[in-house]
Amino acid sequence: MNIENVNVRNIAKQFGTPVYVYSLRILRESIAEIMPLSPVVRFSMKSCSNAKILQEMLNFGIKIDAVSVPEIQRALKAGYEPGDICLTSDVFFTTEDAEFCLKNHIFCSCGSLGMLEEYGETRKRLGFGSDGVSIRINPGEGIGHSKKTNTGGPYSKHGIWYQNLEDAKAIAKKYELRIVGVHTHIGSGGDMEHLSRITGKLVEFAKQFPELRSVNFGGGLPYEYDPEKPQVDIGDYQPILEDRARELEEHFGRPITCEIEPGRRFVAGCGYLIGEVRSLNQTLDENNKRLNYVLTNIGFCHLLRPMAYGSYHPIWFVGDELGEETDLIVAGPVCESGDLLTQKNEEPLARRLPLPQRGDLVVIGGVGAYGHVMSSNYNSQPLIPEIMIEGDKMVQIRRRQTLDDLIREEI
Ligand SMILES: *Cc1c(COP(=O)(O)O)cnc(C)c1O
Repeated sequence: MNIENVNVRNIAKQFGTPVYVYSLRILRESIAEIMPLSPVVRFSMKSCSNAKILQEMLNFGIKIDAVSVPEIQRALKAGYEPGDICLTSDVFFTTEDAEFCLKNHIFCSCGSLGMLEEYGETRKRLGFGSDGVSIRINPGEGIGHSKKTNTGGPYSKHGIWYQNLEDAKAIAKKYELRIVGVHTHIGSGGDMEHLSRITGKLVEFAKQFPELRSVNFGGGLPYEYDPEKPQVDIGDYQPILEDRARELEEHFGRPITCEIEPGRRFVAGCGYLIGEVRSLNQTLDENNKRLNYVLTNIGFCHLLRPMAYGSYHPIWFVGDELGEETDLIVAGPVCESGDLLTQKNEEPLARRLPLPQRGDLVVIGGVGAYGHVMSSNYNSQPLIPEIMIEGDKMVQIRRRQTLDDLIREEI
């Protein structure tokens, strides 16, 4: 199996396993697909925050959607200007974070009344900073590939509830803020019909803000993880967004900047995680049916999505003598029974795959988004390297952590 022109065995030999690998060609293909959708495109950098990925986005004129101050600082270090970065959150993590945004002229989209108030208070206290601010609106409905990633509707903490917009206006008035942007992001994995309805709703909300300059329709572009199924066509989003821009221009009598900020769709497909089969194991269930476990060295400390959301990722084994296709439960090395790469609703879910042997490689696909960024040091596992592949070149863009890295901050 190759990633671009590089054999995965060579990657494993050179960098060890587990290791994250990104294909620059696939990344550029998805950039080319997303860029034409909207006049301003931001990358939701929480999905994959490595500086090399950010720089690649920057080269294509993509701007940044950050959700925290350290994300902003990483984007600045990667070469972005403050004017390219927008912060979207429901809280400032700390008081200092609010000051940082104001001092550095970072455009903020406030996703709660309290955050808007804190923005106003901080600006007043500092005596300077932008008076132009955006509000993130919860339009009363949401969507998600999992309940945990649904960021709209009554059971989501995100955004100013659409019936509370008068309160937002009152706060803006009190602190002499101008609401120049409205924003919504209602979750990940919606279809075109849903995106069309939500963007229409946001346009209606937007009309109440006479000083408006920009509307941000959020991310959430769908990505099909199963390579056997056709990839979701996102081309139809472009005419929808064009219609929205036209409606806004007609209402305001001037052009309003329309923005989108996908994360997943940009990077999910370019990422692979290469690990090793470390052991095979078996159990018998109540009906004397044999369950076959393949234990790999890829745990939820490296890829959290299957355990957190029951997410599906394609799995391939690479070995000299793969066996018959068998129902296999593919697991990781972490001391917790939920450490399974094949699971759904917190239960093991066997998948038909050729039986591998100890020492074979395992490759997980679709891990570019919410992969490395969600990893942890649980079980005292060092964070793993990230490699960028371009044609037949391999470039290491993050090294493997060492034991010293793990204990450095301990006193
Ligand atoms: C996470 C996030 C996104 C990106 O969502 P995807 O589903 O990865 O496209 C966009 N906007 C905001 C505010 C987010 O928090």
